[in-house]
Amino acid sequence: MRFSDIPGQSIARRYLGRILQQGRVAQAYIFTGPQGVGKEALATAFGRALLCLNPDGDGACGQCEGCRKVQAGMHPDHHFINGNEGRIGIAAVRDLQRKIQFRPFYFRHVCVMTGAENLTTEAGNALLKTLEEPNTEVVFVLITSYWDRVLPTILSRCIRVSCHLLSRDEITGALERMGYEREKAQVAAAMADGSLDRARALLEGEQERLAREELLQLVFRLDHAGAAELWDVLQKVDTGQNLEKKLSLLALWYRDLLLWRETGNQRLLVNVDRLETIKKQAFKRTPAEWMQKIAQIEDARKKLRFNANPRLVADMLLLRLAGYGSEE
Ligand SMILES: [Zn+2]
Repeated sequence: MRFSDIPGQSIARRYLGRILQQGRVAQAYIFTGPQGVGKEALATAFGRALLCLNPDGDGACGQCEGCRKVQAGMHPDHHFINGNEGRIGIAAVRDLQRKIQFRPFYFRHVCVMTGAENLTTEAGNALLKTLEEPNTEVVFVLITSYWDRVLPTILSRCIRVSCHLLSRDEITGALERMGYEREKAQVAAAMADGSLDRARALLEGEQERLAREELLQLVFRLDHAGAAELWDVLQKVDTGQNLEKKLSLLALWYRDLLLWRETGNQRLLVNVDRLETIKKQAFKRTPAEWMQKIAQIEDARKKLRFNANPRLVADMLLLRLAGYGSEE
């Protein structure tokens, strides 16, 4: 994958391109940024370019012996530690150190590590020893979504490559290149909070679908709920980590109702598989009322981002959506 195949991140891409063109490579980089914005793709492409025999400002050539070996998963100097699924213990770091203690087969070792925040203190300290020994034949490429949880001693040894949230246009363009229709891509991009992964999940994810079904049940009950039943619904809302995501699905649903009422254009909808329900529900409220609900959800999401108590936010929101809460 070339850098230009990765949506957004133009500053980071240019920066990495200059490193490759000038051939001045540091010993350790850490790619940071929110989930789903392409930092792992970019870091991986950079790691590959570092093993390419003819890289240019846009990454690896994809043709040379080095590139072919990496693509086949057979490059002897390419090392990978997956920390995305849990802690990275001392054994993984020792194993890596054994592999890089010898000179590289070609011209440098490249060690890519995802989930760098999951290094245990012991493993981190062991890795630090390697980072502290100057060695131009080893390059570390660390990746983390949780920059503030990485051991500070490790951070201080790495050059930080920041990846940022993607713009709506960048996400829409990327989704279109993946074959999604423009209208749907635009709606998903609008709801994805700068994350391409999230936009894709909104368009196709099974988990999202299940979460959505659950939410729709909740919405239908809200519409008819008396105070007693509403209390029952409130108790059942999960306020764990997924609350923010669920709120975005909920906003997406109301957005569909609004769009259908205003335009009657099926192609603008995200929940196209629920078209019949949308047709039935959309005219039960005025556009202004649907917009108010969307605004209420957005307001709740904003509160969550500022670390408000999720239980409180969820309760307040449902009360307001059900028409009980007073407007501030
Ligand atoms: Zn190459």
